[in-house]
Amino acid sequence: MQRFDTAHEAALALRPDDPIYCFRPEVLKADCRQFMGMFPGKTAYAVKTNGEQIVLKALVEAGVTAFDVASPGEFAAVRAVSPDAEMLYMHPVKAQSDIRLALEKYGIRVISVDHEDEVTKLTRVVRALDIDPGQITVFVRIQTKGSAAYELSKKFGAAPAYAVELAERLHRTGYKVGIAFHVGSQIEDPDTYERALATADWIRNRMDAPLAGLDVGGGFPAEYGHDPNRKKPEMPSLGQIMSRLRNDIEEYQFDEVPLVAEPGRVIVAKAFSLIVRVLLRKGRRLYINDGIWASLSDSWTGKITLPARFIPDPAIRARNGEAKNIVPFKVCGATCDSVDILSRPFWLPETVDTGDWIEIGHIGAYSLSLRTRFNGFYPDTFVEVATPFDEGKAPEGFASLETMAD
Ligand SMILES: *Cc1c(COP(=O)(O)O)cnc(C)c1O
Repeated sequence: MQRFDTAHEAALALRPDDPIYCFRPEVLKADCRQFMGMFPGKTAYAVKTNGEQIVLKALVEAGVTAFDVASPGEFAAVRAVSPDAEMLYMHPVKAQSDIRLALEKYGIRVISVDHEDEVTKLTRVVRALDIDPGQITVFVRIQTKGSAAYELSKKFGAAPAYAVELAERLHRTGYKVGIAFHVGSQIEDPDTYERALATADWIRNRMDAPLAGLDVGGGFPAEYGHDPNRKKPEMPSLGQIMSRLRNDIEEYQFDEVPLVAEPGRVIVAKAFSLIVRVLLRKGRRLYINDGIWASLSDSWTGKITLPARFIPDPAIRARNGEAKNIVPFKVCGATCDSVDILSRPFWLPETVDTGDWIEIGHIGAYSLSLRTRFNGFYPDTFVEVATPFDEGKAPEGFASLETMAD
């Protein structure tokens, strides 16, 4: 992989027409170590957030020994970077053939369920392979109470009374039993974790089985940009959220059982930026070489403001003077699909033109892991960049939350 000091340098050296992912391994390792320092248990990185080999390898180097996986593709991706990393198979709904593969080929011994039919599938495989159920920890994934905008936990999870029943059934079959929840993504209200802990506590106090572990899932917030025209939203820092979580864990006496967290976004968001090129400027519209079918799908559905930096092409001699203002542009994606238009405008210096580049920061989570081959576009070029996105020149632009008239 080619290395550069900054993305700006990479853009001017490579003059790329295709999107370029700028990977910052040192930022990734630092953010990972920071999280592990703040969480009093096992950190199992959620592979779906960004499962690139370079990411998984750097995480192993940073000391990660466990990964949250959901599919054969993710089992293989983790095994390819580490022969002995532990895998936690935390998808509550699984194909029986995948359960078999997990237990037989990958030696997975931690798994989650939220329904008795999943227990039946698991037990069929355990019996067929003649595994002692006592070697397997089954986490009952529980439903958590909704919490406004970031609530994403409605798809999975057993209701509390049913979770008690499942836990006892698992215990009777001889499994070790844990409780797991996942409250959503980009949680900015620490009460969310406390509510989930209260539900877990209710279940623990009613189940007639020892508790082998508590898995608090992911959802820890990453830092993003903010719109300089607006008041910076009040948001607790990661440190504050984690310290509150630690206190709540102690208060509910969950510090007496082995703890697991499954962070994704918080670890990998800042480790990547993306250089895109303006293929055409048409008035206040920019047509770029990436879009919702490649790196920019999830980022624009969440309530996040991505920071951006303008990289003017020095070969453009005749600019309309110096940029004084940043103005909103409608951004159209690379494919011919008419829905491939970003839902948020991009605020950029008014002189941005055909041929310029834009570096979009903090894009490591749920961006490249969601890219498709639609229309034949598949960005796949990576460079390594030494300087963190947030250092040096302040970002001149951002993808705003405001909508814009056509
Ligand atoms: C997606 C997911 C995570 C990671 O969530 P982040 O918000 O990226 O931290 C963790 N656990 C489970 C079960 C998930 O589905």
